[in-house]
Amino acid sequence: MPARSKVSESKTARGAGAGTSPRRTAAARSTATAKKAKTPAKTARAPAKTAKTPVKTTKNVAKKAKGALGGAEAIAEEAKTGAKKATSSAGKASRTTPEASARDRTSAPSAPTAPAPFEETFRKLREAHPDAHCELDHENPFQLLVATVLSAQSTDVMVNQVTPALFARWPDAAALAATEPEEVEQVINRLGMYRQKAKNLVGLARGLVTNHGGAVPRSLSELVALPGVGRKTANVVLGVAFGAPEGVVVDTHVQRITQRLGWSSETTPDKIEQDLMKLVPREQWDLVSHVLIFHGRRICAARKPACVSCPVNRECPSAFQAEQVGRKPPRARNGSPRRGPAGQNATSRGTPRPPS
Ligand code: SF4
Repeated sequence: MPARSKVSESKTARGAGAGTSPRRTAAARSTATAKKAKTPAKTARAPAKTAKTPVKTTKNVAKKAKGALGGAEAIAEEAKTGAKKATSSAGKASRTTPEASARDRTSAPSAPTAPAPFEETFRKLREAHPDAHCELDHENPFQLLVATVLSAQSTDVMVNQVTPALFARWPDAAALAATEPEEVEQVINRLGMYRQKAKNLVGLARGLVTNHGGAVPRSLSELVALPGVGRKTANVVLGVAFGAPEGVVVDTHVQRITQRLGWSSETTPDKIEQDLMKLVPREQWDLVSHVLIFHGRRICAARKPACVSCPVNRECPSAFQAEQVGRKPPRARNGSPRRGPAGQNATSRGTPRPPS
């Protein structure tokens, strides 16, 4: 009988999945399963060791091996689930772009494709830049006209550095008309194109004396007839000095932001100005350019616009993808093309204003 009982115990062990050596096979299987589970392998090995050591009967071994197998399978299953979760999270993370993160941070909705609604957008921009104004120092229309002519290809800061001496020496059109350009050059030679500017200043002063009794005319057509005065300079003077602009001043900031907000798809200042004149109520023609210029200097820079902190990022169709919108095309220099987009920040406090 003892022999028969050994055989039946052996069979039971085989039925439990053991081979010729139930103890080794059970241990081997549990170890193999534990390997599949990878991370929790150590935990899986522990029951396998138990199966090895105090073997009293093959039945016990088989039972323990079964238990180890079950534990290892459970762990393997758990590890699988964990791995799936991790893969899913990793996938989600890899699909999250910086732009999307930025949106999440600001709770901004998905980017609209329609132009920003003018009234709401302009109201928000005005609130963001309540101090928007012309930053050229002046005390009268004549000084503003002179300062605006000087601001082509120069910063407002630099212009404000030379005008005190200029206005002290030639306080009005009559005084400036009586001098020679070479005299003026010596006072403004810190500015770009100072020779041409000195010539224009003396020429426009003589034009004012000859044709307007020394006063600054109040119409666009009369202003643009003066040397060195273009449509943009004329509208700065008409808007700031007289509160009666005949158009909208479109500098590089106004041009870029108008395009980014979807207010114009044109690419030249003249055509963009026409679009703005249709969109913006006439009484806001002067203010809109100051507000957009301040917005361009402070937030909506040509490179790296700060869309995250922009007050109109919900309305702006270019939000978080604006870097290439409204940029000037690369210009050739010395026959070789420029590597990056050119011409940012003109008219800002720290960068030159383009010619009017
Ligand atoms: S900063 Fe961004 S969101 Fe704001 S106007 Fe410029 S492009 Fe649009």
